[in-house]
Order: sequence, then structure tokens, then C-alpha cells
Amino acid sequence: MSTDNLHKKLKIDLHSHTKYSDGHLTPQELVLRAHTMQVDVLAITDHDTLDALAEAHACQAEQKRPMTIVNGVEVSTRWHGFDIHIVGLNIDPASEYLQEKLQGQAAIRLERAKTIAEKLEKCGFSGVFERAQRLAGVGQITRAHFARVLVNNYGVASMDVVFKKYLGKGKRAAVKAQWPEMDEAIEWIQKAGGQAVLAHPAHYDMTTKWLRRLVAEFASAGGDAMETAFPGIGEDKRGIINELTLEHNLLASAGSDFHFPSRWTELGRNLGIASALTPVWHQWPMMATKQ
Ligand code: AMP
Ligand code: MN
Ligand code: MN
Ligand code: MN
Repeated sequence: MSTDNLHKKLKIDLHSHTKYSDGHLTPQELVLRAHTMQVDVLAITDHDTLDALAEAHACQAEQKRPMTIVNGVEVSTRWHGFDIHIVGLNIDPASEYLQEKLQGQAAIRLERAKTIAEKLEKCGFSGVFERAQRLAGVGQITRAHFARVLVNNYGVASMDVVFKKYLGKGKRAAVKAQWPEMDEAIEWIQKAGGQAVLAHPAHYDMTTKWLRRLVAEFASAGGDAMETAFPGIGEDKRGIINELTLEHNLLASAGSDFHFPSRWTELGRNLGIASALTPVWHQWPMMATKQ
């Protein structure tokens, strides 16, 4: 198995968000922040949309410091009742096939948002839909927008509390979205020329037994890689994730899942992958010219 000596010095972050989904920064602000953090390779992976990519490339074109922007997306799927996120890397943003599928995702998001709002109204929060929609602006509406509205306008203590009390699985305003199956998302990404990556496998609130099953199904559906480095992974989970990556011959990815600067999450920070694993970028042509 190859090691990553060649790329040791590069700062690579393959998971980040902008205002086009639930990130707080514009694509321009994200690119500038990545430069500040000395990132060399940045994938922009908004939830179910490619809208940030053109602006990010345009911004990078004006910068003196080189940085590679990887065209990405994070597709929402459903698997045995869990919301599973599949990141696509190096997808072709001009793929009409993928664009059409993502339009379907946007429609699912809007429908789900209406139902979430109805449920939150019943919990005593009136007018949340308009507020969440205003906050989302031209971006995809997400549960994070509802969480921010409840914190900013209705005095709920934190986003975490909102998810624990209202929006999390089985809670009062939880809605089962009609997301596609995991293997469909893998197909969309690969048909658009990209690699499919199982996102943040430690964050699905499932037992290790379910996690093993998830990774096995992801691999047998043709998934390419798994995130093995991300904030909050925890040492115990890291071991299992590395082991499963090897067992299923998956490539290893790394990403901060950056939404805004915080104590816990920063672009390009602590994203080293184990040397026994093969990085998802090992055959990327753009990396061959870097050192
Ligand atoms: P959605 O894709 O609309 O289901 O929204 C999921 C997003 O909500 C995730 O991508 C996270 O950014 C955010 N999120 C999920 N759980 C939490 C939490 N406990 N605290 C804060 N944000 C969360
Ligand atoms: Mn998010
Ligand atoms: Mn995610
Ligand atoms: Mn994400």
C-alpha cells in the first residue's frame, strides 16, 4: 500500500460548505479563508448543490497564491432510516445528469422544510418557515437554518439543543425526507466523473455493528473512498474507521466539514490520514505536478 510521502507538505481539505447550503461564508470568503489557513487543495462540497463552484474558481483565478479547488458536492441519502451523506469529489459541474438529480434534491429539501416548519409551529414556534427561508437566501434550505433561527429568534440555547429536542432522528419536528438510496447517489457522482466518498462515518449515531454494515454496503455498491480524518472523530472510532477502510479496499479522504470558523472546526486543520491508507487523491492528475 502506498504512503503519502510525496504530499506530506500539502494541506488538503476535501469537505467544506458555503452560503449556497448551510455554510456561513460566501464562496469568495471561503476561498480567502482557505488561503489564510495555508490550504493547498480545497474541495467545496455544499449540500446537494454545485452553485458555489463557479464563483470559487473565479475568486481563485484572481489570487496570487496557488490553490487547487476541487469540484465537489455532498449528497443526502437515506439508508435504513439513517441520513447518510455521500461526498462527490472531482465531479463535472457541467454534467446535466447530475444537475438534474440535484434539482430533485432541492425539491425534496423544500418539501421537507415546509413539513419541518409545520411541526415546529405545533411546538409553538410561529413564523419559522419565512425566517429559515430568508436565512437560506439563494442557498439550499437545511435543518441547520431552522436551528439557527430557533437560536437567534426564539431563545433556544444552542443548535445542538435544537437537534436534540426537535430536529434529530425521532424528535418532535423530525421529518423523514424522501432522499434517494445510497447506491443511487454513488451512481450520480460516478456518472458525473467523480469519486464517491462516505462522509464523516463517526457522526451517524449508530452502533459499530451498523457502521460495519454501512461501510460494507457502501463498498459493495461501488463507493470509492471514506473520510478517515475529520474533526471530532475520537481515537476509538478512528481505529475502527481505518480498519474498515483497509478491509474494504477503500481510498482514504480527509475533510473538516467546515461551515464557519469555530473552536472545533477550521479549514485544513488536523487532517492527516494514516500512512497505511491510500489517499483518495493518489491518482489525481492535478496532484502529480505538486510536491
Ligand atoms: P440537513 O442536510 O438539512 O439534514 O441538515 C443537516 C446539517 O445540520 C448538517 O450538515 C450539519 O451542518 C447540521 N447539524 C446536524 N446536527 C447538528 C448539531 N447537533 N448541531 C449543529 N448542527 C448540526
Ligand atoms: Mn451542513
Ligand atoms: Mn454531512
Ligand atoms: Mn458537510
